Amino acid sequence: MDFDYSPQEETFRQELRSWLEANPADNYDPATFEIIDQEERFQIKFDWQKKLHGAGWVGIHWPQEYGGRGATIMEQTIYQQEMARVHAPGLANPLGISLVGPTLMHWGTEEQKERFVPKILSADELWCQGYSEPGSGSDLASLQTRAVDAGDDFVVNGQKVWTSFAHKADYCILVARTDPDAPKHKGLSYLLVDMHSPGVTVRPLVQISGDAEFNEVFFEDVRVPKANLVGERNNGWQVAITTLMFERANFGMVYNLEPMLDRLKACIKDLEVNGQPAADDPDVRQQVAAFHVEIQALKFNGYRQLTQQLRGNPPGPEGSISKLAGSELYIRMVHFAMELLGPYSQCALGEDQGIDNGFWARRALGSRLYTIAGGTSEIMRNIVGERVLRLSKG
Ligand SMILES: Cc1cc2nc3c(=O)[nH]c(=O)nc-3n(C[C@H](O)[C@H](O)[C@H](O)COP(=O)(O)OP(=O)(O)OC[C@H]3O[C@@H](n4cnc5c(N)ncnc54)[C@H](O)[C@@H]3O)c2cc1C
Repeated sequence: MDFDYSPQEETFRQELRSWLEANPADNYDPATFEIIDQEERFQIKFDWQKKLHGAGWVGIHWPQEYGGRGATIMEQTIYQQEMARVHAPGLANPLGISLVGPTLMHWGTEEQKERFVPKILSADELWCQGYSEPGSGSDLASLQTRAVDAGDDFVVNGQKVWTSFAHKADYCILVARTDPDAPKHKGLSYLLVDMHSPGVTVRPLVQISGDAEFNEVFFEDVRVPKANLVGERNNGWQVAITTLMFERANFGMVYNLEPMLDRLKACIKDLEVNGQPAADDPDVRQQVAAFHVEIQALKFNGYRQLTQQLRGNPPGPEGSISKLAGSELYIRMVHFAMELLGPYSQCALGEDQGIDNGFWARRALGSRLYTIAGGTSEIMRNIVGERVLRLSKG
């Protein structure tokens, strides 16, 4: 790989940078974004996605026929860098963009692509992912939600849990059991479920941070048209795995780490350790440099995954390396900041005494989610061992 930017890539960067300078996110201040109410945060992300979409800046990696720009690896990289540089807010439909759209492009019928894909980038339809159940997380294939054949429809009964954004979603990618007698990986089907259907109940779960961004979802005699079956009936596991590969290949995590390292670097300039600025302390400097090196290594690993995808291959198990290393690095960075802050680390978000607006306390409360959501670290280690390193099962 040639790491220099070509003149065309520099032109692309300039075009995006100029656009971002002229079109900042409305009502958005990165310094206070995490203090404001969850609803306000959602509205900012929603408006931001609409604004980006209006100018063709959402899902740039998607093919042009689906509203993307067919962006090259380097353009995607530049995009992430520029978004991180301005500390841009997230988007309102992240699962739609990174999971649902790419999965439908790969597995969907022409009718499904035409019906569902265009409304994802525009945020006209928001999506959630109905995989996990109270007894089925890591061992997803053991799930019990049933979809029974009823003429033109399936009738769905069961419960999902930890369903992020279900309280805002219009549609759900749902994995349900259509053949209870088949071996557990073989009797599943992948359905697109209208969250406004009769029989769907969403109950938000409140997190330690006070937010409630994920939910329990109950399905009681919910009718789902057979036209919304993705892939073949009873072959839903293959489709579900494709979605998970896109989830784990999500390269964006690295770009969350970079702004966080910037924030950490700013923070150590203001703090004192052993009577001197923390930024002058050799141990602190060494640790911050080590974080920088790890982030760079993750970035280069991510380029390998993107190369695979641009060759038209669905992402492979290598994405688990980024997921594992990125999420664990995130936790170590936050814990390091908490140690440096000492007693001030206990100041909650928005408290007057809280350094950096209590940002680090909030991140510490939320950091564990990354090693659980999308597959736990233990499961990622199993995948890397078995499917990347080809070690025998222990
Ligand atoms: C913030 C957040 C958002 C989420 N969003 C969604 C969502 O939108 N949609 C969705 O469907 N799910 C979502 N999830 C659920 C997530 O996918 C599951 O929590 C995850 O897969 C783990 O499943 P579990 O919680 O049932 O834990 P379990 O699978 O019960 O695991 C418990 C512990 O046992 C370990 N373990 C289990 N099996 C093995 C094994 N074979 N080898 C070694 N260790 C093992 C695990 O690593 C873990 O430490 C979300 C979770 C979080 C935290």
